[in-house]
Amino acid sequence: MIVHADLQPPAECDLAVVGAGILGLTVARELTRRQPNLRTVVLEREGAVAQHQTGRNSGVIHAGIYYAPGSLKARLCVEGARQLYAYCEEHGVPVRRCGKLIVARDSGELARLDELERRGRANAVPGLRRLDGAALRELEPHCRGLAALHSPETGVVDFAAVARALAAELSEAGHTVVTGYEVARIERHGDRIGLAHSRGETRARFAVFCAGAGADRLAASAGADPEPRIVPFRGAYLRLRPERSHLVRGLIYPVPDPALPFLGVHLSRHVGGEVSLGPSALLAPAGLTHSLAWPGTWRMARRWWRTGIQELLRSVSRRRFAREAAAYVPELEPDDFSPWFSGVRAQAVSRDGLLVDDFVISETERALHVRNAPSPAATASLALARLIADRAESRLG
Ligand SMILES: Cc1cc2nc3c(=O)[nH]c(=O)nc-3n(C[C@H](O)[C@H](O)[C@H](O)COP(=O)(O)OP(=O)(O)OC[C@H]3O[C@@H](n4cnc5c(N)ncnc54)[C@H](O)[C@@H]3O)c2cc1C
Repeated sequence: MIVHADLQPPAECDLAVVGAGILGLTVARELTRRQPNLRTVVLEREGAVAQHQTGRNSGVIHAGIYYAPGSLKARLCVEGARQLYAYCEEHGVPVRRCGKLIVARDSGELARLDELERRGRANAVPGLRRLDGAALRELEPHCRGLAALHSPETGVVDFAAVARALAAELSEAGHTVVTGYEVARIERHGDRIGLAHSRGETRARFAVFCAGAGADRLAASAGADPEPRIVPFRGAYLRLRPERSHLVRGLIYPVPDPALPFLGVHLSRHVGGEVSLGPSALLAPAGLTHSLAWPGTWRMARRWWRTGIQELLRSVSRRRFAREAAAYVPELEPDDFSPWFSGVRAQAVSRDGLLVDDFVISETERALHVRNAPSPAATASLALARLIADRAESRLG
């Protein structure tokens, strides 16, 4: 890869992008393809790209089933998945269209499966079909359920590998991706925006902030409303022993609770062949003080305390976590799993304690701020980057 930690940020540029996760990199790529002479720098706090959400997730290319028709998520997920497959094929990033089953275990879950099917069709998800218990076993012979939705276009990829390909592309085109520089503060200088970091300051004509968990603090520093605030949720994964991984061929998901879409623990065969179970969802210790000082967190906790306790039990008991998987694949035993990696979701929460569902982008004088980019933002990134670039271009001139 052509991204060097010893590169230094320039003092002046046209466009500065903060954050080298998949969103910052796709935004920088989109804008520099439109305007190749734009002097562009991507500033990343960590020593390498994709160290946070982008490199620590389920690696699923979602097909767009779950999202409210008409939402940005629905539109950009379907479009973004198509663009992402094309990008991976063009740039030699391994990707697999393994398909996904959303499994209803009993008749009590059928109404929610119907609603998901309705949403999927309204969102024009390609190839979606309904299966009975026998048909689902043809795809996943070890899985049990009453009915399922099958999405053949859902796939898997390593989003960190996509991010590395994007960074390499930017560097080859002569743009700068600097790692190891945290933007600590934002200053206004007439027709420039100043990004203060440990080397001093980078002044840009325009900035786009794609800072994940740092989104609210940076937006507030630029003069934007500090709300919604980011509340980090830690999601931990277990790994299935390789000799038992034949029990899962692709992706097996539960029928989610529509109010809490990210709490669905699923079985996934990753692009490298490993099978995971997860993620759990707990408030992340790293951001706890910041989160607990925010009334929205307490209101959210009051609303979801029962679910929170379930999650806590799941996180302390591997057996309990694994038992949930056995509801779908009865041959799975707790000892088949061992702890694997975890990732922290940057979820925006409003003051009244509601999880902000859709993607949110806000504006300040010389900048755009991605304020909420939860799943499926990695899938949607190339399409979301086009939307952000349209807005940035109209301001950049
Ligand atoms: C457990 C989990 C599972 C998920 N599963 C999926 C999935 O299967 N499919 C899917 O499509 N999506 C999934 N997602 C969501 C997806 O990972 C995110 O939507 C996406 O990665 C967001 O990308 P990003 O670039 O906005 O954020 P990030 O990858 O978090 O990048 C933000 C970057 O900004 C940098 N930064 C922050 N503050 C500063 C600062 N002050 N100065 C400089 N740099 C800074 C950070 O270091 C980081 O590199 C999942 C997320 C999690 C956590």
